Amino acid sequence: MSKKNKKLRLLVTKQCPHKCPMCCNNQFDLMKVPVVDRIDYDEIMITGGEPLLYPRLVCDLIQGLRVLRYGTQTKFYVYTSIAHPAIFPYVLDEADGIVLTPHNKGTIDLFCLLNAKLLRAPEKTKGKSLRLCLFPDIKAMLPQGIDLSLWQVKDIEWKKDCPLPDGEDFRRLPNLIE
Ligand code: SF4
Repeated sequence: MSKKNKKLRLLVTKQCPHKCPMCCNNQFDLMKVPVVDRIDYDEIMITGGEPLLYPRLVCDLIQGLRVLRYGTQTKFYVYTSIAHPAIFPYVLDEADGIVLTPHNKGTIDLFCLLNAKLLRAPEKTKGKSLRLCLFPDIKAMLPQGIDLSLWQVKDIEWKKDCPLPDGEDFRRLPNLIE
């Protein structure tokens, strides 16, 4: 019998305010992604599209899944390109962590506000995982000397064909959020 993957990449919406030319979502029909049929994963990564367009629904989804996974160690992470100083902390309260990938100067400006806000409120980030993924051109937009001590920073590049990492399943909600 084949071993079950322990990580789930869960597509919740196709909607996104950005139009990145290399976006993975342009490369295949998202409606052909299989519908999620189990949740016994150690790690569930909420992705899109842009999940933070729907912060309340994402928090409700995580809460519901936490109930179903009660008594397990399942962790919930949210993948986003939105650094809004109110929305981001709201979702962080519910998730175990957020992976933020800024895509433009506007997001970097918001990120600076968000970062300052989180640095002033250590209780908001205690026990949370914060990852900041930076394309080289976006990294160059960060202010000199900015304090990134809250973040695990990862340098990234666009990858053709968007290979799915080993050990992960990619599934979607039966009804994507519109
Ligand atoms: S932000 Fe992400 S989901 Fe949105 S268009 Fe860019 S790569 Fe695609």
